[in-house]
Amino acid sequence: MSGLYGLYIHIPFCRRKCLYCSFVSQACGGRPPAAYLEALLSHIRQYSRLEWLREREISSIFIGGGTPSLYDGKSLARLISAGRDSFNCQPGLEISMESNPNSLSPAQLDLCREAGLNRLSIGVQSFNDRLLKVLGRSHSRNEARQAFGMARAAGFDNINLDLMYGLPGQSLTDWRQTLEQAAALAPEHLSIYELSVEPDTPFAELRENRRLTLLAEEEVIEQENLTYSLLERQGLERYEISNFARPGRQCRHNLNYWRNGSYLGIGAAAVSCLSGLRLRNVDKAETYIKMVRRGLAPLAEGEALSREAAFRESVIMGLRMLRGVSLIDLRLHYDLHPLDYYGPALRSLVERGLIVMDDTYMRLSLRALPVANQILAELV
Ligand code: SF4
Repeated sequence: MSGLYGLYIHIPFCRRKCLYCSFVSQACGGRPPAAYLEALLSHIRQYSRLEWLREREISSIFIGGGTPSLYDGKSLARLISAGRDSFNCQPGLEISMESNPNSLSPAQLDLCREAGLNRLSIGVQSFNDRLLKVLGRSHSRNEARQAFGMARAAGFDNINLDLMYGLPGQSLTDWRQTLEQAAALAPEHLSIYELSVEPDTPFAELRENRRLTLLAEEEVIEQENLTYSLLERQGLERYEISNFARPGRQCRHNLNYWRNGSYLGIGAAAVSCLSGLRLRNVDKAETYIKMVRRGLAPLAEGEALSREAAFRESVIMGLRMLRGVSLIDLRLHYDLHPLDYYGPALRSLVERGLIVMDDTYMRLSLRALPVANQILAELV
């Protein structure tokens, strides 16, 4: 077996839970358990013994969460080194880590850099203290600015900021100020998401009790339009529905997901997808630790994707990128053409000018981007 894959490592701990969060993470008050880190290292060792995996090359490592930066520099450096040393890595590997502004320190960042971390993502969300409170974030606007400065001082030349719009009580001016302050820092990458109220979150409960008022659709659209015009002027190109980058600074790890490439997931709730076989690890950190300690594979479920299911995923994920999905790759991997597979449903989207197709690529039209999720749902 040959080919590239990405390595994802999940840290399911946060200082406390944000009010909108539906990610797999639990509040730990700022001290993530050492036993979890040891379990991650053992799990990496388990996989590194597999001959067929060692024959493939890793193209990127992504440590996500949760808040990975809650671990100290030494722990993170051990994790990064284990990822690099245990597998067959491509030269010039992209190694990213997610962080929150109030869980970074210069010494920690230095150790991470020395271990090979070369891309840092900072969860800023907003440069407005009032809105950070509304979201239940544990950091301030100033801490976000300081974190960015700290990362630059430590030598990071590839930094992403996460931002959110469509927040309760967020005016167009508030959003403009956040965008302008983010742009003034000149990050290489921005990930920008509209707030979505997910089930079983405090925000969902507040909304049900009519104690949370969301913005009207027109207000959200105004914020989106402002985003695209302002960032384009700053030289940040939109390359995926929610992601913007300077030339050559697209996130390679995420590009692999959108191209429906292979990836290996380490950690609680992490998912792997290797050559059409999808595996999901157990959700609970405690169960994960126990199973890895006993030498067991910490898997909750597995599924072999059919050719058609993998094809549909490639189409849906690929359409998230502004350049679209390669029809040549689809033919090569699945021997299928989207027009033959989807028939009238896709033809209608093309006729309505929502999907553009030429001989080599199929992509969402600019007009379709604001309603991308509805369109993609038609192709599931
Ligand atoms: S920091 Fe991120 S993962 Fe953690 S609770 Fe907040 S939104 Fe969720």
